[in-house]
Parts: sequence; C-alpha cells; structure tokens
Amino acid sequence: MADCIFCKIIAGEIPSANVYEDEQFLAFLDINPVAPGHTLLIPKAHHPMMADLPDELIGPIYQAAKQLMQRIKAAMAADFVALSVVGVDVPHFHIHLIPRRSGDGLANFWPTRTYAEGELDRVAAKIRDAS
Ligand SMILES: [Zn+2]
Repeated sequence: MADCIFCKIIAGEIPSANVYEDEQFLAFLDINPVAPGHTLLIPKAHHPMMADLPDELIGPIYQAAKQLMQRIKAAMAADFVALSVVGVDVPHFHIHLIPRRSGDGLANFWPTRTYAEGELDRVAAKIRDAS
C-alpha cells in the first residue's frame, strides 16, 4: 500500500533496525520504544488489522512472535516479553513485543471498568451469538 509506513519499511524506502526476516514476516525495533528492545513484528503483505490476515498467516506469525520473545528475553535480560496487538496507530497489522522486568512500573493494560447489573451476561451472549 503506497502510503503505508510499514510497507515502505518492507520496501526499504524507510530505514529500520531489523531483528528478524523471512519470506512472510519482518521484525524491527520500534523507533519510539516502551523499553529498549521493543520490537514490531509484521506480515510483509499489507493487511490492516488482525481480522484481515489470511488464516494461513495467523499460526506462523504467532510462532515467529514466540521465537522472537525468547530471543528478546535473552538479549535484553528481561523477566518476560509482553505481546500486544493494539491496531489503532499504523493500519498494517503488527505485533508489539515488549521486554519487561518485574517492577519496571509499566502499566499492563488500559484502565478498566466494571459491568452494570446483568450487563456481563448480556455482553457475553452478544459475542457468543455474533457471526
Ligand atoms: Zn502496509
């Protein structure tokens, strides 16, 4: 896609600090990291959101993510590597892999809320019944 920053990285039009590449995927360091070693893993084909990915890429990209997690954990002496799929910044599917340490002070998730009386069951049924 012509105006996609990640497609430009794949095409070599924008420099990137690559950490992994194969025929289908590319992983490179996020230039605005949450922590050093924060990596973005993307499919080389342009797919805006995870729901747009062909089924045959879902398994392999998460296998690549697992392997990268192990490498990042070792390389960055992290306690663990968090995986995040946000989908609102760059419209080219990407997985964030963020090295974490106990007590690093990073929030794990967005602010949470509570369900109103009966809402929990209604929402669960709505999702179960959606096609
Ligand atoms: Zn793209």
